[in-house]
Amino acid sequence: MSAAQQNALPFLPADLAGQVAVVTGAGGVLCSELAGALARAGMKVALLDLDPAAAEAVAARLREAGCEAMGIGADVLQRDSLEHAAAQIAATLGPCTLLLNGAGGNHPKGTTSKEWLEPGDLADASLTSFFDLDPAGISFVFNLNFLGTLLPTQVFARQMLLPDGRARAGASIINVSSMNAFCPLTKIPAYSAAKAAVSNFTQWLAVHFCKTGIRVNAIAPGFFLTAQNHKLLFDEATGDPTARAGKILAHTPMGRFGEATELAGTTLWLASPAASGFVNGVVIPVDGGFAAYAGV
Ligand code: NAD
Repeated sequence: MSAAQQNALPFLPADLAGQVAVVTGAGGVLCSELAGALARAGMKVALLDLDPAAAEAVAARLREAGCEAMGIGADVLQRDSLEHAAAQIAATLGPCTLLLNGAGGNHPKGTTSKEWLEPGDLADASLTSFFDLDPAGISFVFNLNFLGTLLPTQVFARQMLLPDGRARAGASIINVSSMNAFCPLTKIPAYSAAKAAVSNFTQWLAVHFCKTGIRVNAIAPGFFLTAQNHKLLFDEATGDPTARAGKILAHTPMGRFGEATELAGTTLWLASPAASGFVNGVVIPVDGGFAAYAGV
């Protein structure tokens, strides 16, 4: 049994039952798990993903387990697509009270080959240096992570508000930032800056919405093993940790990667007004101590 399984959640907040959660990127590794945790807490969950089959596969598993869930194809960068999904959700499950902005990720064209620029590197055409970074790659990453958080918020926060402009009881937004928003990781300037923007936006929106009653917080996952980063962390041929994975583990005081289930407790705590009703505008690291460790 892994350390994460030993820490299986001993509680589910009771006040979430019957409320409607919308989770973007819900076909992916981390957010499928978080959607499941919200569903097990009794929420009616709409799982949105660019890949409708991935979203529906997760929803089907949740329905088999007795939960209420629907999978929907939606692009977090297309307002029309989000509006279409929002109308379907409102008609089927009811208005959204919790939005979990989980869709996000990096792009190779926003990534340098090496950690440092060293003398001689510019003569090596095989390297992608800082000077070679493609604006299209940078825009992709900024759009997916930042605009892909802002646009769903515009669409689904509307459903949280009653006609008098006050929020439904329990209305809340949880963004997914990253530990690299606190201190940028080498090689991925676009992703680090885009997640810093998500953290900053979390604070801005918490202040902007506070008179309505909508709370806005974020989780900042450390290193979790997913399809997205598997190639970066393990040698495909041998299955051994790469040099980068070794550095990550050496910089993680707890000495291991996180498991998706270990984000569930923080998510449920932030979602539940009974548990965290006075928590607003925070970004919670869930990273085995990575962000706290200076390295010596
Ligand atoms: P993942 O790639 O498994 O899941 C991301 C999902 O988002 C995919 O199912 C993808 O289809 C979907 N998606 C992509 N573009 C979309 C779009 N335009 N519209 C709708 N859906 C879209 O990634 P993951 O590792 O589960 O990451 C989930 C979130 O956690 C992301 O925001 C990621 O940046 C963040 N994060 C992950 C880690 C980690 O270690 N995996 C660490 C920190 C933060």
